[in-house]
Amino acid sequence: MEVATPMSKRLDGKVAIITGGASGIGEATARLFANEGARMVVIADIQDKLGESVALSIGAHHCTYIHCDVSDENQVKSMVELTVKNYGHLDIMFSNAGIVNRNQSLLDLDLSLMDRLFAINVRGMVACVKHAARAMVEGHKGGSIICTASVAGKMGGDDGMQDYAISKNAVVALVRAGSCEFGKYGIRINCVSPAAVVTPMTMEWFGIKDKEIAEGAFSIHSSLKGTVLKVNHVADAVLFLASDQSAFVTGHDLVVDGGLLCRVGSNK
Ligand code: NAD
Repeated sequence: MEVATPMSKRLDGKVAIITGGASGIGEATARLFANEGARMVVIADIQDKLGESVALSIGAHHCTYIHCDVSDENQVKSMVELTVKNYGHLDIMFSNAGIVNRNQSLLDLDLSLMDRLFAINVRGMVACVKHAARAMVEGHKGGSIICTASVAGKMGGDDGMQDYAISKNAVVALVRAGSCEFGKYGIRINCVSPAAVVTPMTMEWFGIKDKEIAEGAFSIHSSLKGTVLKVNHVADAVLFLASDQSAFVTGHDLVVDGGLLCRVGSNK
């Protein structure tokens, strides 16, 4: 009689870093990665209490928290080095930390606010990609890097999100550039571009306190009527890009928007 073996999970034995993992999309992805068998998920964030409590709720055997401000390259470098030292290697980097500014129309752009945003959304993303890729090259096992862009980058940045839109287009360019350079090392790099999804960032930005009202407002242009974009949908897309199921996918921008970009301007 055959002995039943436990079903393997999609990230069995993998070591992953998730920046911005204390909240929203990053937190949902940390929970999913741990459920999918990741050996260790390192949450890197600047919200220490929140990050530690998320890591604790996932379980100390599979998740840990480390303070890392991605706008500081030294902190990013140390965070990657510590992960490799503690867990042997790095398989997955989900570079997800990002911020949004208010009232940044081009005509009234506050360049110092834009500098801060770029330090996190672009420079921070580049630093995470650089140091993760270096660790993966040295580890000789390949790897998968996923960045978080946004549909805002494809729509021009409505409502004063112009600097944010520019930064998210830079993320797509980073992924394309990385795919050309990293392929020979067996490292894939892709991004996800979600539409608006309810997280602390968007609730605060839109000034909406009720989650259901926010979900309703965000979903009006989606083609998938009756379905609301949730952080879990984005985490599922990240999981696909992180896992071997996307083994021949690199340099790709995976839009998770329920058809929003196709519908914009259609008046349907
Ligand atoms: P969130 O605010 O819930 O999470 C962002 C996390 O990033 C927070 O935990 C925050 O502490 C962390 N962070 C901010 N600055 C940091 C820094 N310098 N170093 C390290 N961590 C830092 O927001 P979210 O919506 O989950 O955003 C995650 C990513 O998704 C961002 O890149 C955002 O631009 C992108 N995004 C969000 C939406 C949306 O509608 N929520 C849509 C498209 C893209």
